Amino acid sequence: MAEHDLPRRGLVLAAAALGAGGAGYPPPSPIDSGSVEGGRIQFPDWRAPADPPSGALPQPRPPGERIGFAIIGLGRIALEEVLPAFAECKEARPVALVSGSPEKARLAAAQYGIPAEAVLGYAELERLRDRPEVQAVYIALPNAMHREFTERAAAIGKHVLCEKPMANSLADCRAMTEACARAGVRLMVAYRSQYQPHHRAAIALIRGGELGRLRFIEASNTQANGPGPQWRYSKQMAGGGALPDIGLYCLNATRYLTGEEPVEGFATIHNPSGDPRYAEVEESMAFQLRFPSGVLANCLTSYGAYQNRMLRLHFERGSIEMPHAFDYQGQRLVVQRRVGQVAAEEERIVKPKNQFAQEIDHFAGCVRAGRQPHTPGEEGVQDQALMEALYRSAAEGRPVRMEPPPGPTRGPDPA
Ligand code: NDP
Repeated sequence: MAEHDLPRRGLVLAAAALGAGGAGYPPPSPIDSGSVEGGRIQFPDWRAPADPPSGALPQPRPPGERIGFAIIGLGRIALEEVLPAFAECKEARPVALVSGSPEKARLAAAQYGIPAEAVLGYAELERLRDRPEVQAVYIALPNAMHREFTERAAAIGKHVLCEKPMANSLADCRAMTEACARAGVRLMVAYRSQYQPHHRAAIALIRGGELGRLRFIEASNTQANGPGPQWRYSKQMAGGGALPDIGLYCLNATRYLTGEEPVEGFATIHNPSGDPRYAEVEESMAFQLRFPSGVLANCLTSYGAYQNRMLRLHFERGSIEMPHAFDYQGQRLVVQRRVGQVAAEEERIVKPKNQFAQEIDHFAGCVRAGRQPHTPGEEGVQDQALMEALYRSAAEGRPVRMEPPPGPTRGPDPA
């Protein structure tokens, strides 16, 4: 009789008789089977110490116990990166969608196993109050809408993970942090690079002092944008051009890599004349920052240059190159330094992880533990203050002083 013909009880008995190793096979060793300890599945290392260990197993939380997110705004970042990333999350799951495009939202809901009744329009956002499985929202709307939707989500008791840039003005950013504090909900700005393993490794290298003092940072984030109309070319909707959209990655990186706040900045803007896309927002900006320790940063960002998203760090005794530093994937970390009598170039192999899943899980963990996220609202407020200073510098054609934030802008490091 074939196995699938066995009645259920017979199948169970047959499986028990086979034993864990199956009939005729030698039983597995503890190295083969692993074990369960303290509610975690684990395997002993099967390789010799000469090889790097494979690391701890993922320990996903059962789906019903994860923090449920409503995704607000189903544009490219939501559909290309955020919703797919939930498949790699261990602490979070998508449970509702909020969109102005019902047909698209219904289709996306079906694709991601979200019930049709959990698909809402923007005007219906407050109905999320009655859905206890929604504990947090992920705001993936155009920049100008971040404040309104943060305030509305906070008012119904939902924690907020908001896309960058946090908002379009300092007043809006501050209002968002105040609204979340008043409502007793957590607020995090989606600075994905701060959760990306190569960036974490670069921070560890800098703090560890292996290459001596950090002296210079070069950072670029450029791309060749297409024709309008797009909300990104509207000052009202986007707040600015390349700087808040992609140059922000360079600015934010100089701060988390140095662990310092810039004291002076100088910016220059170029807009191609006669291009209607850049009637309201800048196409290109180059900016320099000076940090208290003496680190100097040179950054450039543009909507009009072939995509390039790199970081280069110059130390006293070496340098680090990170091509694709701000891409969604493809990060590398190449160290140049002296080894003995020769100049060496070595790639540090850092296990890649989905940075969107990393940041979403970090926030879910913070919501669960009642902990401050690593990139809370204060981090977004400070970047907004610095961007406003850079625009002032470009308008006045001279360097401007940059004020330190009133307190720490980051919570505990991500695990
Ligand atoms: P898109 O233009 O692709 O999508 C925006 C979506 O917002 C639309 O599809 C629409 O969704 C909704 N929307 C509601 N009202 C408007 C409106 N008046 N005009 C335009 N769209 C509207 O933008 P992105 O997904 O690229 O960007 C969204 C946010 O994410 C921005 O803040 C951006 O800075 C950030 N971002 C972050 C990235 C990252 O790497 N972390 C990368 C790219 C963007 P619907 O049809 O569902 O209503």
